[in-house]
Amino acid sequence: MDLEEKREKRPPVTPMMIEEEAALRNGSRGLPPGSWAEAAGPRPRTTERHIAVHKRLVLGFAVSILALLAVTMIAVLLSVRFEECSAAADGPPRGTGNGSLPGPARQPPGAGQPPGRPEQEEEEKEARGGEVAEEEEEEEWQRRRELPPWTRPRLPRHLRPLHYNLMLSAFMENFTFSGEVNVQLEVLNASRYIVLHAHRMHIEAVRVAEDKLAGGVRVDRSFFYPQTQVFVVVLNRSLEVQKSYNLKIIYNALIENELLGFFRSSYVLHGERRFLGVTQFSPTHARKAFPCFDEPIYKATFKISIRHQATYLSLSNMPVETSVFEEDGWVTDHFSQTPLMSTYYLAWAVCNFTYRETVTRSGVVVRLYARPDAIRRGSGDYALNITRRLIEFYEDYFKVPYSLPKLDLLAVPKHPYAAMENWGLSVFVEQRILLDPSISSISYLLDVTMVIVHELCHQWFGDLVTPVWWEDVWLKEGFAHYFEFVGTDYLYPGWNMEKQRFLTDVLHEVMLLDGLASSHPVSQEVQQATDIDRVFDWIAYKKGAALIRMLANFMGHSVFQMGLQDYLTIHKYGNAARNDLWNTLSKALKRVGKSVNIQQVMDQWTLQMGYPVITILGNETTDSVIVISQERFVYDIDAKPKDPALGDSSYLWQIPLTIAVGNTSHISSEAIIWVSNKSEHHRVPALEEASWLLGNINQTGYFRVNYDIRNWRLLINQLTRNHEVISVSNRAGLIDDAFNLARAGYLPQNIPLEIIRYFSEEKDFLPWHAASRALYPLDKLLDRAENYNIFNEYILRQVASMYLKLGWPTNNLNKSLVQASYQHEELRREVIMLACSFGNKHCHQQAATLISDWISSNRNRIPLNVRDIVYCTGVSLMDEDVWEFIWMKFHSTTAVSEKKILLEALTCSDDRNLLNRLLNLSLNSEVVLDQDAIDVIIHVARNPHGRDLAWKFFREKWKILNARYGEALFMNSKLVSGVTEFLNTEEELRELKNFIKSYEGGAAVSFSRAVETVEANVRWKKLYKEELFQWLRKSLTH
Ligand SMILES: [Zn+2]
Repeated sequence: MDLEEKREKRPPVTPMMIEEEAALRNGSRGLPPGSWAEAAGPRPRTTERHIAVHKRLVLGFAVSILALLAVTMIAVLLSVRFEECSAAADGPPRGTGNGSLPGPARQPPGAGQPPGRPEQEEEEKEARGGEVAEEEEEEEWQRRRELPPWTRPRLPRHLRPLHYNLMLSAFMENFTFSGEVNVQLEVLNASRYIVLHAHRMHIEAVRVAEDKLAGGVRVDRSFFYPQTQVFVVVLNRSLEVQKSYNLKIIYNALIENELLGFFRSSYVLHGERRFLGVTQFSPTHARKAFPCFDEPIYKATFKISIRHQATYLSLSNMPVETSVFEEDGWVTDHFSQTPLMSTYYLAWAVCNFTYRETVTRSGVVVRLYARPDAIRRGSGDYALNITRRLIEFYEDYFKVPYSLPKLDLLAVPKHPYAAMENWGLSVFVEQRILLDPSISSISYLLDVTMVIVHELCHQWFGDLVTPVWWEDVWLKEGFAHYFEFVGTDYLYPGWNMEKQRFLTDVLHEVMLLDGLASSHPVSQEVQQATDIDRVFDWIAYKKGAALIRMLANFMGHSVFQMGLQDYLTIHKYGNAARNDLWNTLSKALKRVGKSVNIQQVMDQWTLQMGYPVITILGNETTDSVIVISQERFVYDIDAKPKDPALGDSSYLWQIPLTIAVGNTSHISSEAIIWVSNKSEHHRVPALEEASWLLGNINQTGYFRVNYDIRNWRLLINQLTRNHEVISVSNRAGLIDDAFNLARAGYLPQNIPLEIIRYFSEEKDFLPWHAASRALYPLDKLLDRAENYNIFNEYILRQVASMYLKLGWPTNNLNKSLVQASYQHEELRREVIMLACSFGNKHCHQQAATLISDWISSNRNRIPLNVRDIVYCTGVSLMDEDVWEFIWMKFHSTTAVSEKKILLEALTCSDDRNLLNRLLNLSLNSEVVLDQDAIDVIIHVARNPHGRDLAWKFFREKWKILNARYGEALFMNSKLVSGVTEFLNTEEELRELKNFIKSYEGGAAVSFSRAVETVEANVRWKKLYKEELFQWLRKSLTH
């Protein structure tokens, strides 16, 4: 699964939403930091608004379910001949033995509302009956001093599904569907209970029969238990061990309007609205589409049939085997049986899309399905083409063929994530897969590419071999995220993604988050279904990827690759836990004569939170001996004594530290030192007077490195004299380490600022990018300080010469994508952003000229790649008319990406009245979309003129905001961290603490992270701000 805002924001330019292509980046006062760390708030994006609706529906369903349960029991008691029980709300019992499904005419009454919802009065009466049954059931278990199996967070282990036959009828005219599922069950332990997942559906009938024998097993009663999202079938006798049974359930439900389970979506074609139905089951939503054992460990085979109107087509994981047409314009597609698989990547769709196709060398048919106009324009061709190449790449890399005969890529208008890796039917939101080469920017192409590489990796890591349980979701997500860079390098060998861009976009970003004392380990225990979403966070994706990259580097890439091949071969069509991977990799190492206990090493990295900082100290008396020590890195050193677990002795890692020795013109090859103690002595040959040491070569390790001041000085001299002796990724690594070490108080404040003094000569994008991201939090700590302009001036001096050299881009609307040099354009953008945000006069002038030209000509000729910078700079510098102009454009434009950067530009104003007006307007859903309101508040908080306004607004409107976003955990935490992360005065810290006392309201984790961050900010200012300004003053007078 690919989370939405996984990289910095890039322009999602899709053919269907464009009149003006535009860069989607977020601006802020003077600093439009698309590329400036969004790091504190990276949360998976699911839909925001549907969650409240969801809760209401759940409640409604819970009530009607209880009612049905009662009726069910009565029906069972009355039933003499049938094992099926039938709910009164849906009319008389229905024969279901022939497996035929109810057609539209036989649907539940009141379709379009939750099916089977009885009248109010009846509902209350029945509900009471339902409670009685459940209570009795629970009492019986209490007498046995056990928890009833349906109340436990995980399914009981006495049954195992072997095969599902699932027949569905999709009624697109009223968005309901009915289904019949036949599950073949194996009994591992005798029990009278069948407990499986089912949620938000109406069950019409249940029958249990012994396989291969005619006789049924009488169903005593059945009921939903909404707290654990299960359906319980109580039998009148125990199922016998080693026998297999067939469980048949007939049910119906809605094709939901929220983006989970089996849901609907729509688009407009030739002025006519068209609908489609599609699924999103990961992690726990298959249970909304059919009763099933909805945990990844329960792999089974699936045979799916979908009945739909012939005007639609249906898709699922496997190809259609046969289609049976009926006279009334309906058709049933019968799909081939799947291999063994888990429920969360099962999928189907009912739509009237068209497709283009290609075939891989090994004969896999790849099709891209999208709305007909997009297919006609060829917007899917890029994705189709790279998918074919990537399947070939992965088959070659993993030495395991793609497992299914086909792979469909489905481009849908709405999806809760960027994409989902359903086996053989991967679903993508249109903006992440459709691309028109003539109007898309390079960074948009990169985004599309990486999402596809990610989902394709999952066809092996996740689909073919599946994590045993969600605590190890990082296994699949970490691999897919890491391979985004490896796979993109295969497609574009010159881009060096794995060696370079990985650092800023993954490593540096997640180290910010994981450097908080309140972080959590990458393997997270999780039980409740409602908690599972929580594990899909940046720690799982980015730290997972960073750990895997470290592993690949210390093992050696070819041995690592061999190990992965073995792992996939051994565990294919099954599940694996992290230890299975570690064992296989250890064996691969052994085969090449190396002995490392990978489990022992990696457990420290996956089960402990945070990461170490290594300190390398030279020895005054013996040149060739160095002292290496490790401790846990945290931004707020004061947080340590508060938590004894953070104390010195408890956090230890086995660290594969690579080091090299360099002098003015040369750097040695790297050597690896395994550091496993708090402090160790090591001998380094060839360490002479003038030579420097460099640790963590190319930043392959997930840790920071600090040195004695003498070594830092030598490194700074080297960069000034000849920076190319130190590789691009090492330069970026040194910059990120130095800024963050200084921020946490491990290093004098002047060191990072001295490092970037060589920037007049730096022609590579990556070190600029690393510096710009690291400067961002520092800038926010200083931007309201009296002496801010000294800092400003210092940064401007470092930027000026490269700004002059590079100049501004021209509008390259008509240029082909691949012609433009990706690195060069990114570098230029980065430098312009720094220049404009720190107040370079020429940059301001240029932005003002471009805005004026737009206003006077009403033609937007601003180059796409810098639009956000220009808008933001224009709004902050120019008068209110410009704000009004941008406001008007925000209303009139229909291009989603352009709308977003226009809105964010409005937050760049210096005028507090305008900022207040914007804040108040942001809560009006007619004007600003719910999900964008959060961005408005956060961006005003980034503006030093608006920080206190946003903070005040946040506290005053907290009740409204919490009601609106509270149930979407990540939205709330994005808001909380976005508004608070740059508060840095004692007064603000007090306000925050007081506010939490009075109003916590559910976002406890976010607020404790916020307190930690603000405390660290306050502490930094108290201890280091003056030191920094003193050094800056001195430095500027020289
Ligand atoms: Zn994924």
